[in-house]
Amino acid sequence: MQVVEETRRLQERADQVRAAGRRIALVPTMGALHAGHLALVDAARAKADEVWVTIFVNPTQFGPNEDLERYPRPREADLAACRGRGVDLVFAPREPGFYAPGHQTWVQVSDLTRPLCGQGRPGHFRGVTTVVTKLFLAAKPHVAVFGEKDFQQLAVLRRMARDLNFDVEVVGAPIVREDDGVALSSRNRHLAPEARSQARVLVGSLDVAERAVREGVFRGSEILARVRAELARAPLACVEYAELCDPDSLETCPEALSGPALLALAVDFPSADGGEGARVRLIDNRVLYPHPHRQEPPR
Ligand code: AMP
Repeated sequence: MQVVEETRRLQERADQVRAAGRRIALVPTMGALHAGHLALVDAARAKADEVWVTIFVNPTQFGPNEDLERYPRPREADLAACRGRGVDLVFAPREPGFYAPGHQTWVQVSDLTRPLCGQGRPGHFRGVTTVVTKLFLAAKPHVAVFGEKDFQQLAVLRRMARDLNFDVEVVGAPIVREDDGVALSSRNRHLAPEARSQARVLVGSLDVAERAVREGVFRGSEILARVRAELARAPLACVEYAELCDPDSLETCPEALSGPALLALAVDFPSADGGEGARVRLIDNRVLYPHPHRQEPPR
């Protein structure tokens, strides 16, 4: 497995691989790799000849009061995990070298970045789309794989690739969960023990909503009332949003659901290191199919 730290070197390698007629699948991450990331590696493998993983804690997608400093950076363990999964190349630029000094160029998707996480995290998606653009231009992949756990991010990146004519196929991969259903996240390790056990309430409330739809409840307000009641069972949980929106446009669903609806949640919990404001923000989602004719979402 090759480890590359410099952008120029990565571009040269990409040119060589492409000239040899081989396809590159890219898996962008911020490291602290877990089984969710490694499932993306497997999905990437099915799509290309070489799987390249990027590991970079991107400072431009963190807000001023967010957890950039304490975001875990277990570089050696991450490299070992990639090696163990058969990754061909890891791009792990040294911070902050991936951005040129005086960086002042941004890529921004408009409407899709306003609702959900865009409300509480202004500037977050601008950082994501800018760094992914830089990674696409550096690694020149044919395919890039992202997790459906970050559903809005995936929608935004698909739109960006389409709008800017990137010659990169953006592929989504299903959410990977712990045994108790909690979605794997690099941030789970920061949860206080009691918060970790209450974190199950996110997937529990997705189950409640899915059950309601199966029972024929198609009114959005009724579904959300049940979701909120379930979330309220976790006293440590502070709900940032619980919303039903169109999976393509991310616009709020009409009251009477008639097609697929994304139930998206963001909830924060106290962190293990305590302290005022030290919270851990978790997200989760599921697409609900209120129509009697169930359809799988397009991949
Ligand atoms: P991150 O390192 O958190 O920026 O995530 C890198 C990629 O891994 C993103 O495309 C995420 O959506 C994806 N990812 C993170 N957690 C999971 C999970 N539990 N299941 C599937 N994909 C995930």
